[in-house]
Amino acid sequence: MTTSCWMTLVDNRSMGRTLKTRSALLASFWFGLCLFLSACTGEPEAKVTRLSGMTMGTTYNITLVTEGEVEDLANLKASVNNALAVVNQQMSTYIDNSEINRLKAQPVGEWTKVSRPLAEVLDVSLWVSEMSDGAFDVTLRPLVDLWGFGPGQEEDKVPTDDEILKAQSRVGYQHLELDKAGLRVKRDKPIDLDLSAVAKGYGVDVLAELLEHEGINHYLVEIGGEMRLKGHNPRGIPWRIAVERPDETLVQSVYQPLSVTNMGVATSGDYRNYFEKDGVRYSHTIDPRTGRPIRHNLVSVTVLSPSCAKADAMATAFSVLGAEDALTLANREGIAALFIIKESGQLKEVSSEAFKPYLTEPVAKTTSVQ
Ligand code: AMP
Ligand code: MG
Repeated sequence: MTTSCWMTLVDNRSMGRTLKTRSALLASFWFGLCLFLSACTGEPEAKVTRLSGMTMGTTYNITLVTEGEVEDLANLKASVNNALAVVNQQMSTYIDNSEINRLKAQPVGEWTKVSRPLAEVLDVSLWVSEMSDGAFDVTLRPLVDLWGFGPGQEEDKVPTDDEILKAQSRVGYQHLELDKAGLRVKRDKPIDLDLSAVAKGYGVDVLAELLEHEGINHYLVEIGGEMRLKGHNPRGIPWRIAVERPDETLVQSVYQPLSVTNMGVATSGDYRNYFEKDGVRYSHTIDPRTGRPIRHNLVSVTVLSPSCAKADAMATAFSVLGAEDALTLANREGIAALFIIKESGQLKEVSSEAFKPYLTEPVAKTTSVQ
């Protein structure tokens, strides 16, 4: 029996059409179990505080481990909610007057001032776009909308080739120039931003920094499955989390336990957010090079990086690339990544070299799936 504290790392997406609120429940279950086990063993108990709520169309969960009571908890909760509201106001495609939505009204070919957080997210995004040779692209919004994964869209419609080509012509990170030091951007085409693949990770980073600023050094922060962990869990040992077994049914189970701390962790997968039409599954992850949802045997990617924003963006990039190319890239760049592949109805995993030290327990071996 384990006496460690677990949290579950799941692909709990906000923008799609499938149920996405269960990870918090499963996390609560593990958390309750962990406290129970702690109480049973009679070891000195740290003070554990939990904060949770809704943001970015999904849930956030924060676990704090402190020696005594957290000072002014109400104020801390207000700061957390305020920080999340600010990130949403800057980066959400769902808020009409958000900073990215206002950016598209700015004249093409002219520099426009942006907030520091938006400049930071665009810097990470452009870096991942270049590193992945365009597999990741924050200007993908016309295609995301075309395939029905944009704000307020519910219709399961497969676009025509012409529609795809037209939308593709309005996509391309190369048309976005960032002057990071000067906090300004310039578009040389009327491109439109979608930060859904990186903003949750960035929100996690913002909360982690807020907690550290408050002098809290042992925490787990999670937004919609993206996480950052620091210090130790309530049992005084490194945090333990679980990569979810990719499964489109609502049953959640652990695929791979991980012992990880002082790190950001993000997962991308096509098993929760998709639609099916005429027996074909269309993922919310779109390959900018084809203009179409990805179709390969890589069902889930988990990436570790000190910056959760980078982990989030890289997990999406790797999802697009597919297992073989993503593994080559992860090894070339020294990125820690775990890939779960579905082959002939079986799940199997491959990890990059940098990920191997985190695999402290055997994988749940090959698992049968429908
Ligand atoms: P994630 O769950 O972090 O992999 O992000 C998926 C979301 O990012 C989708 O719902 C789209 O809004 C957007 N997206 C899809 N494909 C890409 C891509 N190739 N590059 C950047 N963003 C994408
Ligand atoms: Mg992502």
